[in-house]
This record gives sequence, structure tokens and C-alpha cells, in this order.
Amino acid sequence: MRATELTDPSPCTRTLDAPDTADIWVSRMKARVKIFTYGCQMNDLDSLKIQTEFSRRGFTATGYTREADVIVINTCSVRQKAYEKAMSNLGRLSALKRARPSLVIAVTGCVAQQDREGLLRRMPHVDLVVGTHQLHLLPDLVQDALKGARGRVVAEFSTCIPFMDTIPDTTLSAEPHRAYVTVMQGCDNFCSYCIVPHVRGPEISRRAESVIGEIRAHASQGVREVFLLGQNVNSYRGGMSFPELLRAIHSIDGIERIRFTTSHPKDANDDLVACFRDLPKLCSHIHLPFQSGSDRVLVAMNRHYTREWYLELIERFREARPDIAFSADVMVGFPGETEQDFMETMDVIERVRFDVLYSFKYSVRPMTAAASLADDVPAREKSRRLVVLQARQREITLENNMRRVGSTYDVLVDGASTRVEGQVKGRTTHNAIVNFTGERSLVGRTVRVTVTRAQQNSLTGVLSDAA
Ligand code: SF4
Repeated sequence: MRATELTDPSPCTRTLDAPDTADIWVSRMKARVKIFTYGCQMNDLDSLKIQTEFSRRGFTATGYTREADVIVINTCSVRQKAYEKAMSNLGRLSALKRARPSLVIAVTGCVAQQDREGLLRRMPHVDLVVGTHQLHLLPDLVQDALKGARGRVVAEFSTCIPFMDTIPDTTLSAEPHRAYVTVMQGCDNFCSYCIVPHVRGPEISRRAESVIGEIRAHASQGVREVFLLGQNVNSYRGGMSFPELLRAIHSIDGIERIRFTTSHPKDANDDLVACFRDLPKLCSHIHLPFQSGSDRVLVAMNRHYTREWYLELIERFREARPDIAFSADVMVGFPGETEQDFMETMDVIERVRFDVLYSFKYSVRPMTAAASLADDVPAREKSRRLVVLQARQREITLENNMRRVGSTYDVLVDGASTRVEGQVKGRTTHNAIVNFTGERSLVGRTVRVTVTRAQQNSLTGVLSDAA
């Protein structure tokens, strides 16, 4: 898990609208906001929406912690490491707060929802704790805090999440041609290791009209790719099913690519598979977390599928879209995981040959069912299994990448390459990163690129022609 700092002050200092009269005092102050983001793409999107809302009220963004009047720590608690990173950053801010008591520090996201008042007790320099269902209140709470109302906790679950309908200003993001769009939030699955249902709450789907309206608005602003987000998009119920939503989005002019994450394998049905056969704008990639290759462990994880069922599902997707690429999440060292269980996980990796695998050591999360089990796989053994798994996956990824050498792909250009001066980078429909020599003016366009070389984490190519 990483912390993303919205570090580029230049695009962030733009304001979108004139501030409301009620907010004029804030504009006069030119309050500056710094946002730290931990965790997944949903948190990245929440931070962009937070930034958008602040910008609409006349706040400016800053890349510099020391000059901020407001610091938002948007947290993740899915893994212990992400939780500790957020806490450590928060701890470091206490010195800044002592030096400048007017500074407002707000904690949002999963840790805010998890720790609530406990966070204020442990970190008295925190002014606001705002949970996952209440982010729409953050700008008002910050304005109140700037006037002196500090030490507030707002973290109740609600039956609707107004923030899902907030349309982020994609021009504030590094990739204005791509829009991340929330379709649902929360989870009813209660996998035994997972804290998400406890901190994001039950599943709540956004109305399809709202999703489609947002995407139409993005398309009119030049967005080419939409990335639909939810903890389990396959259980979307916003007036239509998720496959129906995909078909509706597919018909929106201007949208060239559709991606989504995350899919629970048990809810990936024939209609979803058929979308990969029928909808050319749907990218040739699906993220299908399998977590373990052992049926025994899958039962203990409360995952509701077997390894054979998962492998058959992979084959159904391959029949529908033969060149589809797969990524997944997998865990080692779940309580009771034996060497045999681990070998079964390795066997799934051999059979599926994922392009990308996000692999983790099990860590106990509070409130979860697995927290009552003995964490009995020794830390050294968890590390060994992870090393073995990651080493093999690196080989498979490189082999998959090498198979792409000589092929030509449509690449949506994202920005300057971080690897080589004068190169730009983009993504294929399979979500593979390609670096190639090209002008910055190509950013946001789809071009044809022939792959000439494969690296571990990316491809190198040459421009064929503008598509
Ligand atoms: S499906 Fe399972 S792993 Fe995914 S968010 Fe829900 S409880 Fe967590």
C-alpha cells in the first residue's frame, strides 16, 4: 500500500467555480489543503472528489505539507501495514500542529471508520474524524473547524452515500482522459479475513441513472476510458444488473474503453462473461481475486467457491475473449494453511498464468471472523511462501510479456514515461504498460504500437500509426 501525495501544485491550484457567498471568508483566507491517500483506487477516487469539493468552495491545493492550512489523511485499514503507515504519518504531524495550532487535521476513510473516538484519544492533535459514509460533510466540517469547532467524530453508517454521486473534476487528476466512477460501495460477503464490510458498511449501489449521467458528462469533457469501481461490482443493483449497466455504458458516444474492479468470483455470472464476448469497448482484462488455491482454506475464508469452479470460470472468460488477461489477489499464511494448501495455490498460479498478481501475507484484522483463529503460520514461513510465490509469478509475468513482442496493440497514451526521456507511456486493452518514443501531444489519444521488447513490469514498442 502506498501513500499518494497530490504533489503537483500547479493543476491543483485551479478553482472550478466561484465560491458560494457563504464560503467567501474561506476564499479570502485562501485556505490551502494537502491530501495524503493510502490504499486502493476507491480511496484515490475519494481523494479526487474531496479535492474537487474543496476546490469548488475556493480552497486551493498545495503539494507542501508545511504550508497547508488543512491536512486530510485518507486512510486504508485493509492490511495492517497500510494502517501503520497512515498512523505513522499522522504521528509525525503532531510537531507541525504544536508549531501551528490553527492547522486543521482531518482523518477520513477506513481507519476513521474503524477507530472513531479512539483516534482522537490516541492522537489529540487530530481535529476531525470522518467515516466512509460521511465524506460529503467534510468541507463543512473543515470550515467549522477553521472557525474553532474541533474534536468532532462523524462516522455513522447510512442507508445512502451522497458522496457516490459527487462528480470528480477529472482535470485535477494526472490522467484527465480516464475517469474512475463509483458504482457501489460496501460489501455483504464477510470474507473471514476482511475488514471491509466493517469499515465500508453494507453494499449500497448507486442509481444507474446517476452513473450513466456522470459518464456522459465525462465523455463530453474528453474522457476516453471509464474505470468502474466498487468492492464487489458483480453484486451491483442500482436499478439494473452490472452486465446491463456495462451494456448501457457501452452505448455512450466518446467512451472508447470500459474497465472495472473488483469482481468476486462467486458473483461472476454468464451475463458478465457474455459482456466480454459482445462488448468490444470492454477491455480485455479482468481482476478476479482467488485468495487461495486450497478448497479447505477457501471454506475457512468464507469465499463460497472451489478451486475447480474458479478455474472453470477462467476458462469461460477465455472462451468469450480468447486474449483476455487476468490479475488477482492472493494471500499466503492464512490460519491453518499447510504446505499442501500452499502448493495448491501455486498450482492455480501455474494454470491461470496471471499477468499480474497482488500477493500478501495474512495479517490479523480487528473485527473479522478470522481474528478469533490462531495466527499459526510462523512469520518466517509466511515470508518464505510469499518469496516462492512472487519469484514464480515474476517468471510467468515476464513470459506473458515476452509473448507480446511483435504484436501491435491499441494503446491509450497516459503521459510521459518515467523510464526514458522523450518517451510516453500508455496501456493496452490488457492493461499492460507500454513505453515508446512519442510526443506529449499524444496523451489522451489511442495509437497503434508494435511491441519490440518485454521487461518485467512493462513493454517497449514503436509507434505504428495514429488509430
Ligand atoms: S468480497 Fe470479501 S475480500 Fe472483497 S471486500 Fe468483500 S469481504 Fe472483503
